Amino acid sequence: MNAISFIFFALLFFQNPTIETDKDRWKPYYIDANPSQVAENWLIPFEAENRKSINSIKIISIFGDHRDSFFKGHIHTAIDINPAKPKGKLINVYPMANGVICSIHLGENQRTIVVKHKLKNNQIVFTTYKHLKDVYVNTGQQVNTNTKIARLFTKEESKKYGGDYHHLHLEIRKKFDDYGCASWLTMNKIQLNERYYNPQTFIKEYVK
Ligand SMILES: [Zn+2]
Repeated sequence: MNAISFIFFALLFFQNPTIETDKDRWKPYYIDANPSQVAENWLIPFEAENRKSINSIKIISIFGDHRDSFFKGHIHTAIDINPAKPKGKLINVYPMANGVICSIHLGENQRTIVVKHKLKNNQIVFTTYKHLKDVYVNTGQQVNTNTKIARLFTKEESKKYGGDYHHLHLEIRKKFDDYGCASWLTMNKIQLNERYYNPQTFIKEYVK
């Protein structure tokens, strides 16, 4: 290898991954299934006295925040939430609407479920649920708002990973062409708006 090609490969190797260079790694976890039911009725993703009320969730971190974790400077593509009044120590997660499980990816403290939904007007929307301790569903499975899909980490369990993982990272997506990696590789507002809705705005519009 001559000096110039060495420099070229060294640059390539040390370059930060981008959505475009990383997405193929996550494609094997995706299944192109179609929701059998229309997503008409939208609810918050936890058990609560009123799953139609935004007051049933507590927001810990907002959409669009700058993050220094994982890749320095990436933008928060979700809201981080917990139930406002947890029913017990173990917090279960439910889909926000009818849909099909189209991806389960990552492991440990980052485990993620993605649900594909079809709206009344045939528009496709994806909801993403991240930081799951236990997963109870499989890819290709049809789900509704009563399907227990996962449970969150307890405070004690999240300590094992040296961080704050006892919450739900909830994304609402326009598309899933990145197969999941945009969740940590979204670096600017253009990429953010290309793939994501602000979950707070979406909830105000649909969960009512
Ligand atoms: Zn988050």
